[in-house]
Amino acid sequence: MSTVAVVKCASYDEEEVDAAVAEAVELGGGLESLLARGSTVLLKPNLLEVRDGESGATTDRRVVGALVKMIRARGACALVGDSPGLRHRGAGDTVLDVTGMRAHCEELGAAVESFESARLTDTSIAGGIVLKRAVVAAAAVESDLVISIPKLKTHSLTVMTGAVKNLYGVLPGGQKTLGHVLGRTHAEFADVLCDLYSLVRPRFAVMDAVTGMSGTWRTQKDRIRPGLILASADAVALDAVACELAGLSPMDVPTLRQAHERGLGVADPALIEVVGETSARIEDFTLPYRTSIAWRLLRLFAPALQKEDPRVVPELCDGCRACEDACPAHAIGYPDGRAQIDLEGCIRCFCCLELCPRRAVEIERGWLGKRLFGGR
Ligand code: SF4
Ligand code: SF4
Repeated sequence: MSTVAVVKCASYDEEEVDAAVAEAVELGGGLESLLARGSTVLLKPNLLEVRDGESGATTDRRVVGALVKMIRARGACALVGDSPGLRHRGAGDTVLDVTGMRAHCEELGAAVESFESARLTDTSIAGGIVLKRAVVAAAAVESDLVISIPKLKTHSLTVMTGAVKNLYGVLPGGQKTLGHVLGRTHAEFADVLCDLYSLVRPRFAVMDAVTGMSGTWRTQKDRIRPGLILASADAVALDAVACELAGLSPMDVPTLRQAHERGLGVADPALIEVVGETSARIEDFTLPYRTSIAWRLLRLFAPALQKEDPRVVPELCDGCRACEDACPAHAIGYPDGRAQIDLEGCIRCFCCLELCPRRAVEIERGWLGKRLFGGR
């Protein structure tokens, strides 16, 4: 049985966040038994892109800061690190600076590093199914304790992102390309994520669900405000509860189902105790696509439903080329100064959709998909 704490936190007011994170951590099992004086703790937020926590796309600096304060108060050393989805030189430092993460956490006494310029280590993954080796940030495997600090968000490839998928950021820059190339289907990519998770194995997770993202992130209503902090010593269970709060069965999320089946954590709601705000629900939450077994079977037998292509809306694209940096398949060109996707080369990872600063990439569906989901 795993325990997951759910605590209300209506805003990013620093005092409110400190109190909510402290309460959630305590209810979720506490850090005392995990922290030794002088030990090093890697805090791994989700810093996908150059947007702050209010945007719904990244972990807020104050949530990370609350954990830095707790760790420092117990005489341990805090290191905050991540590598964003953007892959141009200096992207990691830019995201740390623009989100205010670096200034806030350094002021609180943490070391802060972009994994793009950090020391790396090439390591084998015992029991890896798709990913047998990986070049990762050394801090991810050498720290005494890793805490995953995800954001509550949908993802167009993995349905939901959370504490497990958050660890993809320990792969710096181009290494992420390898993961996407090896994990082309939902199931394969879920195995890549579980392989990485089994390597890093965070001992605690805290989710920033004060704000978040639902749907395909393209409209203002996709930015949601659940006003919650979640915490658990079982990152898989934490993600499972986030799914449940949003009305989604955790076992319909390939990453969580596979993590559960591989014994990496608990995703079965019957085996999870929720404490704190047990009646909390996330309203107005939409998914990028349907996930039920009936829906998957329907997709299998109805080819018209299977079409899910990324498409650039020309009127919204300003030719900034951020999607070119993000594309692991090098499938994006700029014939007329605006992005154009080569669907033959595209592996449907939807990194371009996630990382376009102008939200100019959408999912183009088959005719039945359009009728069921709308869009083009
Ligand atoms: S699609 Fe988005 S990321 Fe790509 S060039 Fe256009 S505006 Fe930039
Ligand atoms: S075009 Fe977009 S969806 Fe296709 S491989 Fe590149 S980043 Fe992924």
